[in-house]
Amino acid sequence: MCTFALLMKVLKFGGTSVGSPVSLRKVGEIVRAEGPSVVVLSAFSGTTNSLVKISELLKDQQSDLALAEVDDLKKHYQTYVNSLFDGSKLLSTVLDFVEEKFRSLEQITRKLITPALERSILAQGELMSTQIFYWMMLDGGFEMELISALDVMRIDQHAEPDLKFLKEALNERIKAENYYITQGYICRNAFGEIDNLKRGGSDYSASLIGAAIDANEIQIWTDIDGMHNNDPRIVDHTRPIERLSFAEAAELAYFGAKILHPSSVRPAAEAQIPVRLKNTMKPEAHGTLISSDSDSGGIKAIAAKDGITAIKVKSAHMLLAYGFLKRLFEVFEWYRTSIDMITTSEVAVSITIDSDEHLEAIVEDLNKFGTVELDRDQTIICVVGDNLQEQSGIAVKVFEALKDINIRMISFGGSKNNVSVLVDTHSKNQALQALNEHLFNY
Ligand code: ADP
Ligand code: ASP
Ligand code: MG
Repeated sequence: MCTFALLMKVLKFGGTSVGSPVSLRKVGEIVRAEGPSVVVLSAFSGTTNSLVKISELLKDQQSDLALAEVDDLKKHYQTYVNSLFDGSKLLSTVLDFVEEKFRSLEQITRKLITPALERSILAQGELMSTQIFYWMMLDGGFEMELISALDVMRIDQHAEPDLKFLKEALNERIKAENYYITQGYICRNAFGEIDNLKRGGSDYSASLIGAAIDANEIQIWTDIDGMHNNDPRIVDHTRPIERLSFAEAAELAYFGAKILHPSSVRPAAEAQIPVRLKNTMKPEAHGTLISSDSDSGGIKAIAAKDGITAIKVKSAHMLLAYGFLKRLFEVFEWYRTSIDMITTSEVAVSITIDSDEHLEAIVEDLNKFGTVELDRDQTIICVVGDNLQEQSGIAVKVFEALKDINIRMISFGGSKNNVSVLVDTHSKNQALQALNEHLFNY
């Protein structure tokens, strides 16, 4: 059995990197230049959104509208392929493939939608992008080995990836330093059905594959030159960060920096494989290197995570009651709902969760402990850096910046890498901008 003494990289390209024929060719050039690797591709940008829309329309029994959406997407793929393979002898093969894929989607719009069918619809974007990329490379005389993620990536009944299975499956398929290509995001579940690693999950696929093959580097190629120190979609004057530790990057990803899927740092960190974030349209830019080292201490970046619900449980003699918190946490454990922030006082506990899936049942159970109050539409703002709790003045700077904003909860000291505050979502943009100005002097 191969033990992966092979020197290979994992190169993951996101939706915008593969979104047009021009960018797909650019991806081809980068792959050739980087050397032997496993290339992990997302769907072309907009495709997964469109597939989600088709599924939603089918759930609403609006099959005519779903069919119209399928048709629009098909036209987009035909135009894309006609341009990418213009003058190539492979053009008709690729157009036939597109025709066949969309014929299946059209047929699905006539069926009763089930959860399994929905997940299978969502998988089509990555299945198409990888096949089209494979043919584009072949057309240029560059043969890669296509590995189906559906044969190697598996999740268990709790949606946890099976790294051991992935290692064994890749061991069987990767025998030499060569060029391989596979789909991000998609996998099979415990029932053998097509499933996925949740939106943005291709980063997670890449990190898992990197850990499984003991890659020497995992590169995440996207449309921006690395992790910025604040959300560039919201804040003016952000700049890329050259180096981050695994812990810092994991906090930023978990707390909303969209450039990385929330779980994507952990597999790389556990296997100690450096992760490099790079810009497909500007490969010469430094990007961000995530590894076990980091630059000197201090505040590095700010991220924000929306869709948070704060739950306050008030009870007259809470902290005196031995085991109170344990019993309270057991409610969340039972519903497999993770807690992001927690603050306590003698009379109340406040907890935040990012999923409303079991909220009603959780509240019903918590009512046994005391009065329950809910605040929805909250945002966690997370300030990340190295050794924050050992430096004086960090909290003061954060609160000075947020002096005009109502802060609902504060968390500091839970890890040495983060200070988090909970604010109303409508104050988010103002809070991010104010923190940018105070912490980074813009
Ligand atoms: P891909 O399709 O390549 O996976 P994503 O859209 O998922 O790309 O992630 C890249 C985007 O993440 C950027 O275009 C940027 O708008 C957004 N983003 C949010 N926060 C940050 C951040 N702190 N640094 C860099 N990009 C960020
Ligand atoms: N195509 C999937 C999505 O849009 C996965 C990914 O791009 O990472 O969510
Ligand atoms: Mg992404």
